Amino acid sequence: MKKLVVIGYGGMGGWHCRAALQSDVVTLGGVYDVKEERNRAAREAGIFAYGSFEEVLNDPSVDLVTIAVPNDQHEKLVIRALEAGKHVICEKPVTLTVASLGRMIAASKKAGRCFTVHQNRRWDVDYLAMQKIVDSGEIGEIINVESRVQGSRGIPSDWRGMKEFGGGMLYDWGIHLLDQVLLLFKGAKIVKVYCTFDHITNKEVDDGFKLHLYFEGGKEAYIEIGTYNFLAMPRFYLRCTKGTALISDWTKKTRVVRMKAWHENDVLPVQTAAGLTKTMAPRDEITTDTYEIERPVSDVHDFYRNFTAAMDGKAEQTVTHKQMLRDLKIITTAFRSVKTDQAVILKKPL
Ligand code: NAD
Repeated sequence: MKKLVVIGYGGMGGWHCRAALQSDVVTLGGVYDVKEERNRAAREAGIFAYGSFEEVLNDPSVDLVTIAVPNDQHEKLVIRALEAGKHVICEKPVTLTVASLGRMIAASKKAGRCFTVHQNRRWDVDYLAMQKIVDSGEIGEIINVESRVQGSRGIPSDWRGMKEFGGGMLYDWGIHLLDQVLLLFKGAKIVKVYCTFDHITNKEVDDGFKLHLYFEGGKEAYIEIGTYNFLAMPRFYLRCTKGTALISDWTKKTRVVRMKAWHENDVLPVQTAAGLTKTMAPRDEITTDTYEIERPVSDVHDFYRNFTAAMDGKAEQTVTHKQMLRDLKIITTAFRSVKTDQAVILKKPL
């Protein structure tokens, strides 16, 4: 068992502590938060709270730290922990610029310690269901994917709404949905990026975004976060060469329509306001199969199991430095697209 200390005992720090308390691979050595009231809250919950970050770093019994503080502070804490010989998990977004991530990776290599970002949404069952369909090839090759998360409460009024802390929905949710989508496309290179921001409840940072990714060979992904949607679009829509899959929301199974035969002898038209249409009429069971796929089984603690195995040299990190760099380069390109109000064509595909 590895001894873990969580830095930042806020919403996500609490999540890591609860996971550690039930873990088969880490024990919770304690927490440290810059706010004394949060350290007090930890102690009241029966968790040891260190007096300073230095104290954590100077404790030779600590193997691993998880950094769960606002985004602008990730780099300095990660580098200090690596330099002190700790292995480090950092919350997402790992940091705010590619140059900053380069410094963090260099520090991890120099110290010979493992370092990764908490891409916990790789264990979300909706994403895993999509991945399963893509891997099975049962509805052919991807044409395009749409991945959306939409709420109706605006961006939170805490640091997430402020630029200086690395707020905004592209950094907050975008990095998760992007990471998932890139895995669905299995390394296909991106040649063009176009992004627009919402500023409905917040003028300083994006409180929603629409991100279009264009891949070599014509495949496309569309990622959307909204915080002002009183009706939500489906969570996932996957269009492939031999069918379509759809997940309406987190709690639902995947609906699939698989094409058995392209050609139809008879098409029953449907009535529209302007008359009959055959083109847009739904298919029947002669040419398609319709079915549901069970939600996959998933255990997000596999993230910690993998990382602790990597610390012992017994596994490769699931979330690699190469993936972290690519994710952040694409996020940075999306910001560039917003700034110029134009699609960014990548001379060197990403
Ligand atoms: P939060 O505001 O609830 O908690 C942050 C805590 O960090 C606060 O208690 C604050 O006092 C403390 N803090 C700030 N600076 C510190 C420092 N220098 N040293 C020690 N403590 C410090 O925020 P949160 O929602 O817990 O978010 C924290 C991080 O977790 C962010 O990077 C966020 O993006 C990420 N996060 C990830 C997920 C996920 O699903 N992976 C979900 C939510 C948040």
